[in-house]
Amino acid sequence: MINTAVWDIGYLFAAALFIFGIKQLSSPKTAPRGNRLGALGMLLAILVTLSRMYTEGIIGWELIVAGLAIGILIGALMATKVEMTGMPELVALFNGFGGGASALVALSEVLDRIQDGNIPEPGVELYAVWLAIGLSGLVGWMTLTGSLVAMMKLKGGFEMPFSRKWIRFPTWGPQWLNGVKIILLISSFALIWMTINEPANKDYIWGIVAMSSLLGILFVIPIGGADMPVVVSLLNSLSGIAAAFTGFVIGNNVLIIAGSMVGAAGLILTFIMCKAMNRTLPDVLFKSFGGTADKAQLSRTKIGSDPIEVAMVCDGITRCVVIPGYGMAVSQAQHAVKEFADLMEARGVEVIYGIHPVAGRMPGHMNVLLAEASVPYEQLIEMEDVNNDMPDMDVAIVIGANDTVNPVARTGEGPLGGMPIINADVARIVVFIKRSLSVGYAGVDNDLFYEDSTMMLFGDGKKMMNELNAAIKDL
Ligand code: NDP
Repeated sequence: MINTAVWDIGYLFAAALFIFGIKQLSSPKTAPRGNRLGALGMLLAILVTLSRMYTEGIIGWELIVAGLAIGILIGALMATKVEMTGMPELVALFNGFGGGASALVALSEVLDRIQDGNIPEPGVELYAVWLAIGLSGLVGWMTLTGSLVAMMKLKGGFEMPFSRKWIRFPTWGPQWLNGVKIILLISSFALIWMTINEPANKDYIWGIVAMSSLLGILFVIPIGGADMPVVVSLLNSLSGIAAAFTGFVIGNNVLIIAGSMVGAAGLILTFIMCKAMNRTLPDVLFKSFGGTADKAQLSRTKIGSDPIEVAMVCDGITRCVVIPGYGMAVSQAQHAVKEFADLMEARGVEVIYGIHPVAGRMPGHMNVLLAEASVPYEQLIEMEDVNNDMPDMDVAIVIGANDTVNPVARTGEGPLGGMPIINADVARIVVFIKRSLSVGYAGVDNDLFYEDSTMMLFGDGKKMMNELNAAIKDL
């Protein structure tokens, strides 16, 4: 017979690994180690839980092995098959699964308790457990459906089964929808209150499931423009909060600790993203900036430059900034970008990278890609700092970025209104490397393309960067 203290010690170690792991995530240098520590903590927590479930006779070893095998197979397949550009959708999906799993555990616990008549007498225990069940359901189901909508919005739509027809996911948010959201939220809390008063009534539980699922969809569907980073990190935080509530429901300490950490870390990231977008959280959730805006119709044209012309502009300069965006991730141009920086540095040019907090499609997207190409961390300069240097830049190479350098944001109007940008337009020459004049994620045209001091190098990011590098070698 296993001493139950062994499980508690196992959970304690797992929690310690989570805490050390998350601490290490605070620096890009130690982040990979932090990731491994967190994964090890999770493995330990799973093993302890399974050992507990098996020993206490909750499930047989066949189910444990089958669950592990299916989980490992799906996880490994997803992690190895997903393209770097598909990562944001995968993260959104995992957030949803986290919320859904917590909600399901809480649901099965409450249904079991009702069926077995295992309902505490009215008092603190009943209030605490039923409140945790209600909140876990509310947050968990909301996270699941909200994350599924976020995933489809990040993907741009979904493919109809069989017909393979691509359906664009709508961004829809009339003002009256805010009233509906508030009514649903208040009704959900009322239902939680009613479950506490009538703990054996399953109808209230199903009511919470339905209302919170609808709330998740209604909260995320109007959010468009450039505000998705805030939503993705908020959903991440909610998945942790749901897990923490479920930890209270089933009395699992490691779930409470890990859930609280995810909840807190996600909330901090949400506020960092809000700051980066110059918005408040209620503004993002209720004002749906640009949510209903259609993609801008383009009418202007601009003659493209060629790599030899751009190489000649780069000849004899002293300072250059590279501003990467989503297109660098799509074209996987980070290694070619690093080669460009090496070539320029060999010619005595100082090269830095300007990193916008919401560049790409997930927080830290550019940092991850550039680290993969061994770009030194010291050269990655955050938006506020790089903007001080922009007037001294001879050339700004903007590769696959658009919204994050769009001067229209300064007008305070439209989907990008008020979002701080990297001031690429104050550099002496701006070179955009992208395939066309088309818009970025927020769907807004970019006046900077048409400035006299702007050169457009039209084409795939990696291909153009390689051609530019070849032209620089020939100088
Ligand atoms: P944008 O989405 O504004 O623009 C990306 C540009 O990349 C496009 O205009 C596209 O132009 C170009 N591009 C696409 N494929 C290629 C390719 N193969 N080669 C070269 N260029 C390519 O990117 P930014 O990084 O500037 O801004 C990010 C946006 O995404 C912001 O609006 C942000 O709010 C939003 N967002 C960010 C998230 C985050 O967490 N970071 C999450 C969700 C959304 P073309 O088609 O002409 O090539």
